[in-house]
This record gives sequence, structure tokens and C-alpha cells, in this order.
Amino acid sequence: MDPVADTKKETAEARKPRVATMWLGGCSGCHMSLMDLDERLIELAPKMELVYSPVVDTKEYPEDVDAALIEGAVANWDNLELIKVIRERTKFLVSFGDCAVTGNVTAMRNPLRVAAPVIERSYLDEADLNPRRPSEPGIVPPLLDQVLPVHAVVPVDLFLPGCPPSADLIYFVLSELVEGRTPDLKDKLSYG
Ligand code: SF4
Repeated sequence: MDPVADTKKETAEARKPRVATMWLGGCSGCHMSLMDLDERLIELAPKMELVYSPVVDTKEYPEDVDAALIEGAVANWDNLELIKVIRERTKFLVSFGDCAVTGNVTAMRNPLRVAAPVIERSYLDEADLNPRRPSEPGIVPPLLDQVLPVHAVVPVDLFLPGCPPSADLIYFVLSELVEGRTPDLKDKLSYG
């Protein structure tokens, strides 16, 4: 009998999968679809530890995350820095929804080629009061001239398409991940 080995084994057995979700440049609709799991969230909750998410008050992305669902495209410098940190600290990265997978709605500005007209339209042309460009540091992160899907910046382990993906599909993916399996979507997606 080896008490140290036994303790390590027990700790490993007790450890729940550490799961994160995050949004980059998107509309949060993919997370709304996640919320549509309703009572199935209660079923999943005891099987995992939600360590980082827009619905969790954790400020810094933690180390040693088992799986992360990332909504939205890479649209600004904050997104760019964060997705690199997430990739470094996450074993299994899911590109969550069409904006993450292709750029989708967030990338509709790409034909403009540069970000400046977006800022001008939003903060000058459409302003009712005090039109001015945001200039205070840290308030509005600088936009990238081209919006990028997540896999254009970091390697992705699974693409979960949909705008948004259905709650059933999200449930399947999370259920597989918390059981330590790689979700196989080949019979789950329909493009008809
Ligand atoms: Fe919103 Fe659709 Fe993009 Fe999800 S994929 S963030 S629902 S626009």
C-alpha cells in the first residue's frame, strides 16, 4: 500500500473537468443558446467546474483548463491577446458558433479593408450627442482592420457551427467533454 500514490489517485479521480466559455467579437447569441440548455445545465453542473465564463466572476483566464467554448471572431487587440492566452492554457478548444468558425456577422466589415470607417460611423456619424472618437486608453480596444475566425489565429480542436448552434448540439458537445470524450459531430450536423 502506498498512501501517497493512493492520495494522488483519489485527487485525480475527484478532479472534475475544468471548463471555460468566453466571447470575443460576437453578439452573445451563442451564449444565449447555451443558456437555452435550461434544466440540462443543472444536470451538467455537478460533472464539471466552470472556471471562467461571462457568467463567472473570474478576472483572469486560469491555467490548466480542460475545455473551452469560444464564441465570436477575433475583432480587436483584446480578442487577439486573450485567445492566445486561452489557447496556451486550454487542452481542448472549441470554435463555438459561426462567428468563431468563419467570422460570419462580425466579419461583414472586412470588405471595407480597414477599421477606421467603422469607428467613424459608430462614434461620429451616428452620434446624437458629443460626436468624438474614443481616445481614453483601455476604453475601446483598437479594432483589427480585418476580423479573423479563431482558427486563423490559434489551432482549434473542434468546430461547432451554427448562428447560434442549437442548445441540443451544445448539450451534446458539453456532455461528451465532461465525460472525457472528444465530441464526434459528423452525424449531428445537417446542412440541408
Ligand atoms: Fe451571434 Fe450568430 Fe455570431 Fe453566435 S454565431 S455570436 S449568435 S451572430
